[in-house]
Amino acid sequence: MTVPSVAQRPVEPRRARALFVDRDGTLVPDFHYLADPARLEVYRGVGEALRLARDHGYQILCVTNQSGIERGLYTREIVEAIHHRLNERLALSNARIDAFYYCPHAPEAGCPCRKPKGELFERARSERGIDLAASAIVGDRWLDIEAGRRLGLLTALVPPIGHEAEVLAEMAGHHLEPDIHASSFLDAVVRVLARG
Ligand SMILES: [Mg+2]
Ligand SMILES: [Zn+2]
Repeated sequence: MTVPSVAQRPVEPRRARALFVDRDGTLVPDFHYLADPARLEVYRGVGEALRLARDHGYQILCVTNQSGIERGLYTREIVEAIHHRLNERLALSNARIDAFYYCPHAPEAGCPCRKPKGELFERARSERGIDLAASAIVGDRWLDIEAGRRLGLLTALVPPIGHEAEVLAEMAGHHLEPDIHASSFLDAVVRVLARG
């Protein structure tokens, strides 16, 4: 797939662009506390989209809330096995997630790492030399868009099929508007790349 060539947002010298991606409901169906790597499925077009973003110089960084850990529904080892399995699946499309950042806490804990808070993104920025102002986030829920807005990322929303109205109502409730309303993950990435 080709992407229209337009003037790109400049990247700070010696820094990199990141495509931050949500996991559940964005790359993979949201199974609500997936605890079995064997049940993992990847949405159509995700591998192609991630390969395209990498070809355009983006690091692919997955930031995900995994409160099932603190709730005792699964362990960190299970989450990491799921991430390993996801990368095995993406490898079939010559794509990969460069790094995963997850929050293991329940919402009630009030931790600084649960989206829409920014600690995991700040950690990615310092560990991987990311220029946030030249980066983007793709997610399926208001909290992804809110996190992106707070950090100055380009934001793209891809509501899961069948949940569009619910997601848009949530967005309105939080007075949020994404930069890009996308119809699929691949559509989101193509439009992010076109915006530079
Ligand atoms: Mg999600
Ligand atoms: Zn946390």
